[in-house]
Amino acid sequence: MTNNGEVITGIGVGRGLVVGDVRRMPDPLPEPAKTTSSRTADEELHRASKALGETASDLRARGAQAGGLAKEVLDALALMADDSMLLSDAKSRIDSGATAERAVFDAFAGFSATLEAAGGYMAERAGDLGDVANRVIARIMGVSAPGVPHSETPFILVARDLAPADTALLDFDIVRALVTTDGGPTSHTAILAREKGLPAIVGATSANGLADGDTVIVDAGRGEIVVHPTAARIADALADAQSRQMARESATGPGRMADGHEVQLLANVGSAKSAAAAVDAHAEGVGLFRTEFLFLENDSAPAVEVQRAEYAAVFDKFPGQKVVVRVLDAGADKPLSFLTDDGEENPALGRRGIRALLAHENILRAQLTAISQAAAASLAEVWVMAPMIATVEETEIFVGICRELGIHKAGVMIEVPSSAILAKHILEIADFVSIGTNDLTQYTFAADRLLGSVANLQDAWSPAVLRLIREVGLAGELTAKPVGICGEAAADPLLAVVLIGLGVTSLSMSPTALADVRAEISRFTLSEARELAERVLSTRNAADARIAASAVLTQ
Ligand code: PEP
Ligand code: MG
Repeated sequence: MTNNGEVITGIGVGRGLVVGDVRRMPDPLPEPAKTTSSRTADEELHRASKALGETASDLRARGAQAGGLAKEVLDALALMADDSMLLSDAKSRIDSGATAERAVFDAFAGFSATLEAAGGYMAERAGDLGDVANRVIARIMGVSAPGVPHSETPFILVARDLAPADTALLDFDIVRALVTTDGGPTSHTAILAREKGLPAIVGATSANGLADGDTVIVDAGRGEIVVHPTAARIADALADAQSRQMARESATGPGRMADGHEVQLLANVGSAKSAAAAVDAHAEGVGLFRTEFLFLENDSAPAVEVQRAEYAAVFDKFPGQKVVVRVLDAGADKPLSFLTDDGEENPALGRRGIRALLAHENILRAQLTAISQAAAASLAEVWVMAPMIATVEETEIFVGICRELGIHKAGVMIEVPSSAILAKHILEIADFVSIGTNDLTQYTFAADRLLGSVANLQDAWSPAVLRLIREVGLAGELTAKPVGICGEAAADPLLAVVLIGLGVTSLSMSPTALADVRAEISRFTLSEARELAERVLSTRNAADARIAASAVLTQ
């Protein structure tokens, strides 16, 4: 139950504001009862295998309709429904008297436990399995699968959280905003919303009380949902939304604060296609070119010529502008079969990033050669950096090889607390650093960034993370060298201001986030950003840090 004018709070994603009516996503299906079947085993097996096959076809059809990355995700889910081991597991349960729905439920649960035991990336896929299981069971029971409700008119989607199969096909003309009761700022839903520029509020626990048809204002900028607002409040909100939109549209130039202090606003890209989106969003260049995304499917290291062509396609989009290329960050969530060791128990703590590259120095040298050749033939200003640097010695080795191979600007990523603490020594060697807040947060809290059960710890607003960033900012000031941010934190407009206050000189983010960040930083002077940073640093946790920063906004 909700009351007129009640305000529900959560974590806002983006700066959008939308007024609309709620449609709730149905809750998950109840667990099928453990009753003994009254049908024959053959009948039950037919029900199970038919539902599994139909679910696989449905997922594939949705994938074909969506295309791109969504197709890959949905095809992978279809493979799970098609898995012959899963069907034979369900069959043996049916042979022992289980109903089709119970047999499928238990077979998926067994599959999921195996993935969870494998840890890391595999464990994250276990969540997707639950979604596939629900779809199959709904089919067996002849009820509609829990999923995004169908509607011809626009609505605000309220859900516990969204599964990849739900988000892949969201129609953004109909779904105007997302509200989730679970999930944090780095959940799948938040990342999708940021990518698509869709207003969202995640982790809004009290949104459980919202019902279909409730009119709400979703103000992502303030992290607030106003329930049954008065006409006057709606009018105020819409006027506010319009002025924010105008501020966004008028802010197309380079990143500049209210006092004229410049902060480069760059884009994160993984291909020539996303580089084009970065140009459209008026990025001042690229702050993170994730090269490993180009070679995820490769069985062997790509040849120098192949790499050179891929890099040139991105460089050519940024004549006269900076492109920061990251050498292959293989391992953990981004395994490359030609670089990643099999069988590590904790791949995120194993030989990933620079560790894998130094163990295969020929691959590192080939990549740097390709980058250097592509850079020489292009008008872009190419900088190169290494991921997962943990020590000063790794920095020395990497920068040394770069210099040998004709790379003019060689830097490192700060993603591990040790390198944040040693940033001054690192910056005495490297030409620049770029802070990867996704990994820095994961390693600060020892919390797997892919694991939903510890997602609450994956929050870069945490003063623990911000204090580490402060160390790096100070080191940048002392050595007069650039300090960038290229993790998700840079895409959070208010956090971006805090980061500038901590000494960061450039921000790199998904292209869709650029307009909001550009508009937000233009509202503050550098000294106000520093004041904001000081306030936030003295808080105890991420929630208090957000409150301390937001209090400044409402003053
Ligand atoms: C990061 O860790 O913040 C980062 C930018 O690198 P990736 O997300 O690719 O690991
Ligand atoms: Mg990283």
